[in-house]
Amino acid sequence: MKILDRYNTAIHATSLKSESDTTWSDADVLGAAGLAAQHEALGIALARMLAGGGRSDVVQIMTSEVYERSFRIKARITHIQAGDIAKAVLAWYSHGTCQPCGGTGFARIKDTPSLGDECKHCGGTGRIPFDQQFRHEHRELAQWLHDQIGATQARAGRLAMEKIAPLLDF
Ligand SMILES: [Zn+2]
Repeated sequence: MKILDRYNTAIHATSLKSESDTTWSDADVLGAAGLAAQHEALGIALARMLAGGGRSDVVQIMTSEVYERSFRIKARITHIQAGDIAKAVLAWYSHGTCQPCGGTGFARIKDTPSLGDECKHCGGTGRIPFDQQFRHEHRELAQWLHDQIGATQARAGRLAMEKIAPLLDF
């Protein structure tokens, strides 16, 4: 099992007492995630959000990351625009499903459970087209920020594993 999947249970646990019959106690998982957050703040904030937490930490971290990035690639955006890009990328990540086809990629046929031809709204991808959410000059930054979501989650998971390993007795 992946450690950040266990985070969901751990975060909702009422007792943080270590359970000797499980490999990872909730306290161990939360401790490891806390240590990993020092280096992968976004990955851990995303894990917390996916476990039912708020979005504000995630938006704040994504905003500053994309704002910093804009200086590095010399694409001038304001801090407010950085916030808008962060919110839109996060919204697409969380609810990017194409509504007309319900994410199936096929057109729905009224009053039947069968599916028709390729959905015209999303071109059969089942997702709302990403690029169209952003102004042309912001697309490179938006795509970069979107890529960070997957990358930071993978890095945060690996880092949390490294932090938890010494806590386990084999
Ligand atoms: Zn569709």
